[in-house]
Amino acid sequence: MNLQNFVVGRWQQFHGTGDPLLDPVTGEELARVSSSGVDTAAALEFARTAGAPTLRSLSFSQRAELLGKMAEVFAANRDEYFRISLLNLGATQADASFDVDGAIYTIKYYAKLGRSLGDAKYLKEGTQIPLSKTGAFAGGHFLLPTKGAAVFFNAFNFPAWGLCEKAAPALLSGVPFVVKPATPTAWLTQRMIEDVIKAGILPHGAASIICGSARDLLDHVAETDIVSFTGSAETAARIRGNANVIRRSTRVNIEADSVNSAILGPEAVPGVGPFDLLVKEAVREMTLKAGQKCTAIRRIIVPRARMNAVADAISAALSSIQVGNPRNPTVKVGPVVNKTQQSACFAGVSRLKKECQVIYGGDETFQPVDADREKSAFVHPTLLRADSGAGVVNDVEVFGPVTTLIPYDSTEEAAAIARRGSGSLVASIFSDDAAFVASTISEIGDLHGRIMVANQSVAGQTTGHGNVVPSCLHGGPGRAGGGEELAGLRGLLLYHRRFAVQGPTATITALGESGASTSDFYD
Ligand code: NAP
Repeated sequence: MNLQNFVVGRWQQFHGTGDPLLDPVTGEELARVSSSGVDTAAALEFARTAGAPTLRSLSFSQRAELLGKMAEVFAANRDEYFRISLLNLGATQADASFDVDGAIYTIKYYAKLGRSLGDAKYLKEGTQIPLSKTGAFAGGHFLLPTKGAAVFFNAFNFPAWGLCEKAAPALLSGVPFVVKPATPTAWLTQRMIEDVIKAGILPHGAASIICGSARDLLDHVAETDIVSFTGSAETAARIRGNANVIRRSTRVNIEADSVNSAILGPEAVPGVGPFDLLVKEAVREMTLKAGQKCTAIRRIIVPRARMNAVADAISAALSSIQVGNPRNPTVKVGPVVNKTQQSACFAGVSRLKKECQVIYGGDETFQPVDADREKSAFVHPTLLRADSGAGVVNDVEVFGPVTTLIPYDSTEEAAAIARRGSGSLVASIFSDDAAFVASTISEIGDLHGRIMVANQSVAGQTTGHGNVVPSCLHGGPGRAGGGEELAGLRGLLLYHRRFAVQGPTATITALGESGASTSDFYD
């Protein structure tokens, strides 16, 4: 099966033989993919000229209706998306649900929020600013959807959610998109676009997809386009550094990798709330999607006196979890996405091992359940232990089921270690000690996109360390890319351009009456 690309309003067969997409459990070829032959400049121009004007002519509530219909189509095809997730990502039911159900939830969420913006087609910000003695002349701030296209570069680990968390705010803003999913897992994204196109929900040109290499796509983005990237910091640097992007000052949002941390409070003891909650969350973060989540816990920062107890508890939990072929109902942890990622994980663990000791796992030759070790791409869940919070442990993101315990000796040191991630998507604090929680938040908040606090009072009710909810901010400073996504209606700002109008007070008043107020974003 060859995956076709959908550009300039039609499905197009790629040139050449394409690259194979593989089953990471069996090694079997599933499909072929390529962008060869796609006219990327024409793809962008079609989105700008055909998709954008129609979307902009709709009100926020009409665009929200489109999102609602997309969610219905996705929900109707959920079983097929789970099947593709199993085949192409080796996803367990829980893994597939995290991606696919997360995608459907996010689209539904924006459909609901969008309705609240009513008949407006653009945004107004703040109140009128008097600029003359008589009051005849005034100023105001407004935001129009950009007249270009949104270009999405997505990472391999979230082919469904990655599409929807970007597409929902873009479409609701009135901006068409061209999505380029990561090549190894492009099938699911391509199938979702196919289902939406078949259903005839979106205006012509509102959604396009290019599978395979991005080729020269960035060389054709314009000043009106928005580039929204999710992936590694290394690729992010190339995107930012593209000469055309720099020349045109094209807006770029980067969601990159992150060495996230979980911090255990100084008072925590085994068998009591925060300790047990941290152990449970750490195991979940290591095993769900085989640790292939940008938000997963990579460093567990614990009081030195609790290192052994935490190590024992996590190791005991991991030893009872089956790793292998997700078609076997006893299996809870599947493979990483392919042999390349497996090798990258092995290389990352080797780097960590130079400074850390392996507490659990770490065996490159371990035998997964119901799978051929040679053909498959499994990584043994691995817990390591560092002697101090300095060094390589703060730099290496092993994108798999791998995490490292790090000791701290004071409140200040715990925060200092978290900061050594140089900017992270998320940190979580497991503690009953209110002073420790407050001090840690004030020390690390500026270098983190999100902080989760958990203790017994919220046991069983938290959204989880690694779960990105559309109502809260996703993105982090520094190494994490410096991007901002979601956070409810704030997510629309990426796709709008702010400008000031100075003129007769009546003109500013009239403009303001037709726009939806951004103050509603912060309710
Ligand atoms: P990646 O190799 O950086 O690729 C990300 C995307 O960029 C893919 O679609 C890739 O296409 C594309 N790409 C690669 N080179 C490009 C270039 N020169 N120009 C334009 N596009 C280019 O990342 P990945 O391996 O797919 O994903 C894993 C990484 O993503 C991890 O580091 C993880 O932490 C990070 N991640 C971050 C978030 C977040 O929200 N912050 C979420 C998920 C994952 P090809 O596949 O065709 O190369």
